Amino acid sequence: MNGEIVETGKALVSAMEPIHLGIFEGIKAYVENDVNNRGKLNIFRWKPHIERLQRSAAICGMRIPYTDEELLEATRKTIVANGFDTNVYIQPRIWPKAGAPQDVHVVFPAWTFETVLGRDNPQFSKSRRFMISSWRRIASDALPPQAKTWANYGNSALALREAARLGRDGAIFLDNRGFVSEGTGACIMAVRNGKVITPPVTASILESVTRETLLQIIPEDLGITVEVRDIARVELYASDEVFLCGTGGEITPITSIDDLPLGKQYPGPVTKRIAEYYSETLAGKIEKHKAWLTPV
Ligand code: PMP
Repeated sequence: MNGEIVETGKALVSAMEPIHLGIFEGIKAYVENDVNNRGKLNIFRWKPHIERLQRSAAICGMRIPYTDEELLEATRKTIVANGFDTNVYIQPRIWPKAGAPQDVHVVFPAWTFETVLGRDNPQFSKSRRFMISSWRRIASDALPPQAKTWANYGNSALALREAARLGRDGAIFLDNRGFVSEGTGACIMAVRNGKVITPPVTASILESVTRETLLQIIPEDLGITVEVRDIARVELYASDEVFLCGTGGEITPITSIDDLPLGKQYPGPVTKRIAEYYSETLAGKIEKHKAWLTPV
């Protein structure tokens, strides 16, 4: 935190600080060779995550007083100080100081997590009943989803609370035009007639690192066609498979939307294939994508 290794309980900021434009990132480090094991860790796609953090800060008129290299070194030190040898989630948090809107507090907390990926992981296949939220995704000309501010997650929290009240596991947003946007903390992809479809960045989505990764590997490595285009709500109902993708949730299949079951098989074969390949990519088993991994 602000250049020092600090125990979680001592990482304190005054409650009087303004929080509206606090920004954050979600980054993961995975164990090499087998994501369900212990051992050497690699940070997945450090660069695009840190670039997005810098962009979020710039959009909000804030300046992060550290270089990418300094932030990487600090992240490594935090992981080592914790003695972690299993999958680590790193959630950089940055927010402006009262009376000095360009100046920021910087804290890079890290903790371990259980992956939903990996062969026969029951977490991957568990039932996920989703709904189309009655809340629309925040519009880019009001509160830009492209900047990863905590403020955006007020919109997500309303959708999640509505879903919980209605007994659903999660929600999918439509954008202000009525087209499919994204989940509350992940992007969305659907499989229709063997093709993968996903909304464009103009559909009020976060420019997701996972989405960008999948847009490259699905056609190039798996030979499956991907279309980036607006998706109507009804197309989701008519899809063979729907899944969410993001750093936090990784790849998570969805069982039903508005209680309409999706496709014939759950999880669907295309989702499973993509998730398995993605898991191997994270574990450094795909030689040509090793450049995406930064050793801790
Ligand atoms: N959309 C939202 C709203 C998110 O919170 C996230 C998670 N950061 C994503 C999409 C996925 O982004 P990424 O793949 O970069 O984690």
